[in-house]
Amino acid sequence: MKSSYLSTFSVLFSLALLSGLDAADLKSVDDFRAAAAKANAVLTIPDWPQTPEAVDALVKDAIAKANAALDEVGKQDLGKVSLKSTVIALDDLGYDANQAANKVAVIKESNKDAAMRTAAENALKVFQDWAVSIDYREDVYKAVKAFADTKPKLSGEDEKLLSETMRDYRRAGLALPPEKKKEVEQLRKDLAKLGTDFDSNIVNAKGPVVFSKAELEGVPEDFLAQPGLKTGDDAYTVLANVTWQFVTVEENAKSEATRKKLYVVHDSLAKETNATVLNQMLALRNKIALRLGYKSWDDYQTEPRMARTGAKAKEYIDNLVTGIQPKFSAEVAEMQKMNAADTKYPNARIGTWDWRYYQNQINEQKFTVDKEALRVFFPMQKVLEGMFAIYQNIFGLKFEQVAAPYKWVDDLQLYLVSDAVSGEPLGLFYLDLFPREGKFNHFAEFEIIGGKTLADGKYQRPTVTLLCNFPPPSADKPSLLSHSDVETLFHEFGHALHSIVTRGKYGRFAGTHVPTDFVEAPSQMLQNWVWNKKVLDTFAADYRDPSKKIPAEIIKKMNDAKLANAGVYYRRQFAFASLDLAMHDQHPEGAAYDCVAITNPILEKVFLPVEPGTTFVTYFGHMNGYDAGYYGYAWADAIAADMATVFEKAREGYFDKQAGLRLRHEVYEPGDSRDVNVSIEKFLGRKQSVDAFLKNIGISASDKKKAPAGPSQESR
Ligand SMILES: [Zn+2]
Repeated sequence: MKSSYLSTFSVLFSLALLSGLDAADLKSVDDFRAAAAKANAVLTIPDWPQTPEAVDALVKDAIAKANAALDEVGKQDLGKVSLKSTVIALDDLGYDANQAANKVAVIKESNKDAAMRTAAENALKVFQDWAVSIDYREDVYKAVKAFADTKPKLSGEDEKLLSETMRDYRRAGLALPPEKKKEVEQLRKDLAKLGTDFDSNIVNAKGPVVFSKAELEGVPEDFLAQPGLKTGDDAYTVLANVTWQFVTVEENAKSEATRKKLYVVHDSLAKETNATVLNQMLALRNKIALRLGYKSWDDYQTEPRMARTGAKAKEYIDNLVTGIQPKFSAEVAEMQKMNAADTKYPNARIGTWDWRYYQNQINEQKFTVDKEALRVFFPMQKVLEGMFAIYQNIFGLKFEQVAAPYKWVDDLQLYLVSDAVSGEPLGLFYLDLFPREGKFNHFAEFEIIGGKTLADGKYQRPTVTLLCNFPPPSADKPSLLSHSDVETLFHEFGHALHSIVTRGKYGRFAGTHVPTDFVEAPSQMLQNWVWNKKVLDTFAADYRDPSKKIPAEIIKKMNDAKLANAGVYYRRQFAFASLDLAMHDQHPEGAAYDCVAITNPILEKVFLPVEPGTTFVTYFGHMNGYDAGYYGYAWADAIAADMATVFEKAREGYFDKQAGLRLRHEVYEPGDSRDVNVSIEKFLGRKQSVDAFLKNIGISASDKKKAPAGPSQESR
């Protein structure tokens, strides 16, 4: 008991040290300005607006400034156009405007003040409306086209900038007759507005479900003791819209009725609002694709990506669905057996509300991994420090906490990243750790300032933020992460590094501005780290007695469990990919959409039975932003597994600095300034292959003949 208190205090104390003594003990960003100047680089702490009016003004000013710059591009002498006066000018003004929008997006997702969040939301709508309109500036297009028509001899990033700018004009409809072009412009504006509504409806969706203690049998006491959970003598209010609450109950509640009740509420979140909104979005997307000469929104969306066409994305996913069928069936059969024993119905079927519970049961019985019990090994601060140590080592970086002049929440932390050898400052990241009312409800990295070579030749180093939702510390315990939180942290922090170490000359190619079916690959690769005993042993230790590491057999069992669950995991991913592609597939213009009628049968067919009346897709946030793009997760997984082999074959494994530096230099630094296929193969030192991916899923060599061709073959 005593040692437990001591450790608790020491953890809390070290957290206080890191976050509470800014002014006195921490360096400031100014301490790094000289080093930045030496590297011809600029570091910037964002200047945050403090009032709703200032939020509004920030976006309005950014738009006015960008419009003035667009006017300059548009009114120039078409006989004197240059790279600089056309596409570089566009990159510059787009970059500046985005910085304002990025800031406002972070305010929308993280500010404590509801009025600030509302102002940010409204300002973002204004911005998105405007952002759509810039592609339709005829005068600007004429200038760029005039330059393209000179057939300039360009190479590398410059050539890519011109050809992709022209491609985007074509995609925006500039090659269309005026009437049709005007229509597409209006359709896209309407779509952007609906997208913001879709997102807001998700954030605002609430799903409180009251259970008695008996109904929550099996759910850990720790969970029930969380602040806000107990709301009456025998009443516990679980929020279906709070991911960790939903997942904990679904994984642990013995009662199928409880699981199903919570699942029905969860999978009906935003039903009343977003079913209509999404149907309208689908109709608009289809119309836009047809006007632009594409057969579907799938085709339109995949064109600039590694997949290139909707058919290829669909074929890829369909093949994987078939490829893992035996593995999926075997896993579901095992769950069914357990369910039949529980319910005494021999023909009981596993529903969408059951799989988390039975997977957890199987893991506990067969692999005896108690996920909740594992939390003691992952006190938040130790996990952060451990991850920092690993990433600093393999990528040749140094992270130092610095004072944040402005904090949108008291425990906000700010860090400076520099090159460990040269000392060159590379960028900044914020950490916003805990959940609160109105905050982004998941875990993600947001770019605030992107990388870019500025007009004076100096390089603007990036600033990003991580918005996390770790369990808050309680009276007698520090914040204890789940293993899945740790995995998400390693993933999201990978995005932060991808942004920060960038060397992309142009804003549109810098950092994570890469094709969306590639952007997840490096981060998905980094998830492998937290399944490795050597890696975990560097930081995971029982907070009550740090001499206790996670036993080897537990980690082995976790890995066995992961492989054992791969069929269900990937079939669920493929179901999401399939329903997304199906919603955005060919559709007669004018025919009504019913997003739920399209998607529920696919969930049933590819994954598991759903309860009639539920509307999974209305709360599926990916459908604004990852639309016709969810397949990219599986696509990127294939690349991630392939890239991981470089570390796995290296001398130091996941600690291998040479492999890490190669990732930094060949993948992170170039971003999209060259074809990502080239970057991937430079990192691999060979052609791409899907062998590692299939092996990881547990597909045997004899199954492999039937397995799909991977993105490497298809993208060439
Ligand atoms: Zn990600």
